[in-house]
Amino acid sequence: MMQLLIENLSKTYPNGTQALKNINLTIPAGLFGLLGPNGAGKSTLMRTIATLQNADEGQIVLQTGNGTPIDVQKQKDEMRRRLGYLPQEFGVYPNISAEALLDHLAILKGLTHKAQRKEVVQNLLQQTNLYEVRKRAVAGYSGGMKQRFGIAQALLGNPEVVIVDEPTAGLDPAERNRFLNLLSEISENIIIIFSTHIVEDVKELCNNMAIINQGEVVMQGNPAAAIEQLRGKIWQTKVAKTELNHYRQTYHLISHKLNAGKMEIHILADQQPADSTFTPADVQLEDVYFSKVQLPDE
Ligand code: ADP
Repeated sequence: MMQLLIENLSKTYPNGTQALKNINLTIPAGLFGLLGPNGAGKSTLMRTIATLQNADEGQIVLQTGNGTPIDVQKQKDEMRRRLGYLPQEFGVYPNISAEALLDHLAILKGLTHKAQRKEVVQNLLQQTNLYEVRKRAVAGYSGGMKQRFGIAQALLGNPEVVIVDEPTAGLDPAERNRFLNLLSEISENIIIIFSTHIVEDVKELCNNMAIINQGEVVMQGNPAAAIEQLRGKIWQTKVAKTELNHYRQTYHLISHKLNAGKMEIHILADQQPADSTFTPADVQLEDVYFSKVQLPDE
């Protein structure tokens, strides 16, 4: 069984920022969502898995279906052969068609046989729904199309592990859905890890997820199971904006949002609070997230 094991991974940058603090994760095949606020350490972790930088401590092991396990930080070439990567910033696209660019990138990936390469390129353009626009320059693509092109290039060479860093940032909701569906479709037999700071991104399509905050894993598992664990423990009520501080001090406040002029708050408590205005909330992944990632005080 293929899986990626991350064990006791720690990283401190030369300026003293401790970006990863003893990270332990088991990542099976399928779509894996890595959720956390900006600065949590997601990119650092992704770059380390993608062999672009090393951690100070700990190891990353790719257990392949058949052969011997790969120590990612030591066997970089072995890992790179099995890896597809879509970085957060892909940089500037040259002004050539998507088809020509993908063909070029395929050559760089070692697909030297022309007919074979053509087939691979056409298939990837179909799979990412770019075939109709293959003659257009990627530079002129919309954000969503660029990201789908990014996936097409990441899939060159049949990777077993695909890493996608914050792919939905800047996409509108329709593009986001379409993109996440694409990731889900291609994740059947390979490991796809994508990072995001948007809770909804990991809602439906990820079988497994982790939440990281300030360099630490604060939750990992199945999103639905995590929601189930909180059932009966999240309570909601509406309060005036001026009362917010009182509630913050009295209860374990996990979130608040303005709704028709009133503050709707969610708190975490094992039992119904004495304050009788609280009613059971319909638990969402946001509640899981905010029960693990403390909101900064305003
Ligand atoms: P995320 O991807 O979750 O936003 P990052 O991994 O980019 O988080 O950053 C984690 C922390 O490490 C942040 O505090 C960030 O400022 C810091 N950091 C990231 N890269 C560097 C670097 N090259 N040098 C110093 N600090 C860095």
